[in-house]
Amino acid sequence: MAKTGQKILIVEDEPDIRKLVNYNLAQERFKVLEAEDGEQGLKIVQRDKPDLVILDLMLPGLSGMELCKILRERSETERLPVLMLTAKAGEADRIVGLEMGADDYLTKPFSPRELLARIRAVLRRRSTEVQQGRPEGVRAYRFDGWELNLNTHRLRSHDGTGVPLSNGEFSLLVVLLQAAQRILTRDQLLDMSRLHSDEVYNRTVDTQIMRLRRKLETDPTNPRYIQTERGSGYIFNVPVETVY
Ligand code: CA
Repeated sequence: MAKTGQKILIVEDEPDIRKLVNYNLAQERFKVLEAEDGEQGLKIVQRDKPDLVILDLMLPGLSGMELCKILRERSETERLPVLMLTAKAGEADRIVGLEMGADDYLTKPFSPRELLARIRAVLRRRSTEVQQGRPEGVRAYRFDGWELNLNTHRLRSHDGTGVPLSNGEFSLLVVLLQAAQRILTRDQLLDMSRLHSDEVYNRTVDTQIMRLRRKLETDPTNPRYIQTERGSGYIFNVPVETVY
């Protein structure tokens, strides 16, 4: 059950979809705000400070992508959960949406039940992060030209490209960077990154490490950053700068 009055803004130019979403969310005790274009959406975000934004990708004027980018660039909204709606189902669009900083992504047509499940998952993830707390005041970690932003969860490579990370990969990378140049066992990595408590992760730490290497390393088979310590675990083996 939603906490009474959690505010959800829907930015969508199709009145029928706004109506459908408004009706279904109101049933679940969410307070729903509506905007029919990006400019209006931005004004409502600033004025009413919603807890989550459902953002249509194709909007007249300011697009959903542009609005998402603006929200992520401003410190007061960089952590505002954004659920992107789109008519496009392509994987490329999904990745672009997540790179722009959307927390999740839903393809039209969607069922109200699925929308609610996604909203709850995103809100729960955000509140868990707040409770677990990050290291006091740490905004980002930098290493060798890379930056991992802890507010937006975005990883940026040398050349400024955004690299999408799953939640599991993000938590694991945070742990590795926090403990840079110290060996961590698989159990420690699993415990500290809480891979097992967030979503259902069937994959082992090793598999997640392999995926991270593919995203980070020039040669994943001969890794420079995330190195294997035979018989003991893993070590993030380059210096990491903490940004406050
Ligand atoms: Ca639209």
